[in-house]
Amino acid sequence: MGWDFETEPEYQEKLDWVDRFMRRDVEPLDYVLGDAYDKTDQRALAVVRPLQATVREQGLWAAHLKPEMGGQGYGQVKLALLNELLGRSRWAPTVFGCQAPDSGNAEILAHFGTDEQKAKYLQPLLDGAISSCYSMTEPHAGADPTLFRTTAVRDGDEWVINGEKWFSSNARYASFFLVMAVTNPEVSAYEGMSMFIVPAETPGVTILRNVGTGSESAADGSHGYLRYEDVRVPADHLLGGEGGAFGIAQTRLGGGRIHHAMRTIAQVRKAFDMMCERALSRQVRKSGTGRAPGSAVETVPLASLQLTQEKIADSWIEIEQFRLLVLRTAWLIDKHQDYRKVRKDIAAVKAAMPTVFFDVVQRAMHLHGALGISNEMPFAKMMVNAQVMAIADGPTEVHKITVARQVLKGYRPVEGLWPSGHLPARREAARARYADLLEHLVGNDETGS
Ligand SMILES: Cc1cc2nc3c(=O)[nH]c(=O)nc-3n(C[C@H](O)[C@H](O)[C@H](O)COP(=O)(O)OP(=O)(O)OC[C@H]3O[C@@H](n4cnc5c(N)ncnc54)[C@H](O)[C@@H]3O)c2cc1C
Repeated sequence: MGWDFETEPEYQEKLDWVDRFMRRDVEPLDYVLGDAYDKTDQRALAVVRPLQATVREQGLWAAHLKPEMGGQGYGQVKLALLNELLGRSRWAPTVFGCQAPDSGNAEILAHFGTDEQKAKYLQPLLDGAISSCYSMTEPHAGADPTLFRTTAVRDGDEWVINGEKWFSSNARYASFFLVMAVTNPEVSAYEGMSMFIVPAETPGVTILRNVGTGSESAADGSHGYLRYEDVRVPADHLLGGEGGAFGIAQTRLGGGRIHHAMRTIAQVRKAFDMMCERALSRQVRKSGTGRAPGSAVETVPLASLQLTQEKIADSWIEIEQFRLLVLRTAWLIDKHQDYRKVRKDIAAVKAAMPTVFFDVVQRAMHLHGALGISNEMPFAKMMVNAQVMAIADGPTEVHKITVARQVLKGYRPVEGLWPSGHLPARREAARARYADLLEHLVGNDETGS
C-alpha cells in the first residue's frame, strides 16, 4: 500500500531544525542584506558563510542534488517538505545552496556537461562561490522559443554569437551565462538550437540595462536586457551537443517549475498566517449594536464575521489542494525519474500556482485595509510575485494547453452519433447485462416465493 501522508520521524526532526534555524537566523537576513546573488558583497558573505557551514554540518547543503554532486539525494518529496520552509525567505535558498537559477543551471551542467565544463563551471556553482545566469528569452519572443533569433555560427575553433536576450535574471552578478542560440536555421527549431556557456567577461557581452519587477527601482532591477555582439566562445563551450538546446531546456525548466511551486507554498502560507492573525486581532463594531450613552462600543473580531470566515476557509482549502498537487507531482518525479513522464502534472502545478498565490494574498491584503496596501506590509510585493509565477518559465496559458493535450491523449472520439454517456443507450446496455437475473427475480416475485 503506497499512500502515506506521514513524514519519517528522522526527517521530521531535520525539518523541525530547519524551521527553528529559519526563524532565528535566516528570515532576518531579508531585512538587513542586499541581493543574494552578489558574491562580491563582503558584508553579506561574512554573515552568510557561517550559516552555510551550519547547513553543511546538518547535511542539508544543496539537498536537490544527488550524492555524487554533493547533495543528499533526498528526492523530490523530501525536497518539497524542505522547500516549503525555505520559501519563507528570499535568502534561504542561498544559505541552503539551492537557489534558482543556479540550481537548474547546475542540474543541466551535471547532466550534459563535459568533465572540463563541470570542473570549470559546475563545481564553483555547487560550492556557492559564483552565480550564474540562464539567458533564453528574447525581447520579441518568450513563450514560444521557436521564434528566437539569436544565432551562433561556427568559425574555426570558435562559435560566434549574435543577438539580444531579455529578462536574463542575475546577469549582473553572474560569472557565466547559458545562452540558447539558433545554430541551424534549415531544420526545425526543435533540432536547430544549441546551448552555449558564455563567460561573463567575454568581449561583446553587454548588459543594456537591468530591469526590475513591480515598483522595484532601476537600481534594484536584476533581470538583464543583454546584447551579444560577435561574442566568440571556444568550440568546447557548446553544452550537450549541437541542436540539443530544447532537450536541455526541458530538463532544466521541469525541475525549476516544481521547485518554484514548493517554495510558493511557503509564501502562500505566510500570507494565510497573516490573514488569520489579522482576523482574530482587528475589532469591528458588533452588528446591530449602537453606542449607549456612557458605555463602550461592543466589538467583535473580524474573524466572527461570516464573509471573513469564508475568506479563511476558501484560502485554507485552496492551499491544501495545491500542496497535495505539488507533493503528488514530486512523488511522481521520484517514481519515474524522468520529467517527460510527469509533464502534465508539472504543467498543472505551474498553472495552479499563480491563482492560489494571488487569491490568498489578495484576501490577506484586503483584510488588512489600508495597512495591507501600504509599503509597510509585504502584500503588494507578494502580488507581483504571484504574477511572476504566471509568466516566468512560461505563461499559464501554455501550461494549460499542455495539461489539456496530455489529458486528451487518454480519450477517444465516440463512434456513432450519441455520446457514450447517453442515458437511453446506458439503460439498454444495463438491461442487457442483467436481463437474465432480473427476469428470474421478477419471475420468482410473481410466484410469491
Ligand atoms: C521574474 C522573471 C524572471 C525571469 N527570468 C528569466 C531568466 O532568467 N532567463 C530567461 O531566459 N527568461 C526569464 N524570464 C522570462 C520568461 O521566461 C518569459 O517572460 C516567459 O517565457 C514569457 O515570455 P514573454 O514575457 O515574452 O511573454 P509572451 O510570450 O509575449 O506572452 C505574453 C502573454 O501572451 C499570451 N500567450 C503567449 N503565448 C501564448 C500561447 N501559446 N497561448 C495562449 N496565450 C499565449 C499569454 O497571456 C502570455 O502571458 C523571466 C521572467 C520573469 C517575469
